[in-house]
Amino acid sequence: MTILYTIESDHIDEIKMQELGRIIREGGTVIFPTETVYGLGANAFCDFAADKIYMAKGRPSDNPLIVHICNIEQLNQITDIVPKKAQALMDKFWPGPLTLLFKKKDTISDRITSNLPTVAVRMPDSKIALALIEKAGVPIAAPSANLSGKPSPTRAEHVIHDMMGRVDAIIKGDDCRVGLESTVIDVMHDPPVILRPGGITLEQIAEVLDSVIYDPALDRYDGTLIPKSPGQKYTHYSPIGQVILFSGESGKMRECISKEAKSCVEASKKVMVIGTNENVENYKDGIIFSLGSRTNLEEISSNLFSLLIKADQLGAEIILIEGFSETGLGKTIMNRLKKASGGTIIRCGD
Ligand code: AMP
Ligand code: MG
Repeated sequence: MTILYTIESDHIDEIKMQELGRIIREGGTVIFPTETVYGLGANAFCDFAADKIYMAKGRPSDNPLIVHICNIEQLNQITDIVPKKAQALMDKFWPGPLTLLFKKKDTISDRITSNLPTVAVRMPDSKIALALIEKAGVPIAAPSANLSGKPSPTRAEHVIHDMMGRVDAIIKGDDCRVGLESTVIDVMHDPPVILRPGGITLEQIAEVLDSVIYDPALDRYDGTLIPKSPGQKYTHYSPIGQVILFSGESGKMRECISKEAKSCVEASKKVMVIGTNENVENYKDGIIFSLGSRTNLEEISSNLFSLLIKADQLGAEIILIEGFSETGLGKTIMNRLKKASGGTIIRCGD
């Protein structure tokens, strides 16, 4: 049975939080909001807790979990070595959507790291998440709280729909501000390498470190390079319907998508168009939604998963989505969209 707790981030209920912390400490599972997406958490020091997470999500056990902490003492319980570059990034971006790899101590179960010698750690920027970790008194291992392969949940209603009965408790809290997962970076590698693009951009990181690169295997579909982050090799973020991603100049994408939507409707396919404010008024066919303005990538990010989940709720068979330039947050948005589309991309105006 799953207990549902409503928590307001501006008036955190101490008694409820203590109860939730106890569930985690004693080896149970709790879904909680963070600023990135909702997480499915369990005690990072508990051997069987990771198994419960993998089971609830249906996640392959070779895909390691991120450990969430609320203070630096907890980091010291997880690793002996904090490289200078890691310290500089933590000073700048914690609490926030940046996950760093460290050499792990034996305190962290091999099941959490899928037998890797490194552990991924972050300090979330969410009052509810931080209060939960503090009350639990232990770091919390937590992947996104979606069923494996599906878009990540950014609102309480998403997790309530998918996860009731699969975990011990769900916190009904705020919508997630960032809406996309954290950036995962390995600073032990020279030069430091971004294994998964996320809420903190390469450009922001480059202001702190001399050099930083993306893992060259990111977003490759030809199988010639294996991503260093195990999670990047799986299909992910996918609604049930077929996602077709469009790329190119905004007006060209509008023409391509309009044509495609029309032929889908003529073929009696239920089509959903996910565009931007600049283009939506021009779309005529299908169910039409806007992610927000092209000039505001934060807004686009925070709406993205929620609209992919909406596609399932509406039973869309085909989902046509406008793409973005791959700089700044656009790189993260396109990483998620490429995965959601399984690499089905139409280049417009070539
Ligand atoms: P999620 O928890 O669903 O947001 O995914 C966590 C991501 O972090 C996945 O892509 C994992 O593969 C990645 N990750 C976690 N731990 C490690 C690690 N030790 N080394 C490389 N990637 C990791
Ligand atoms: Mg995930």
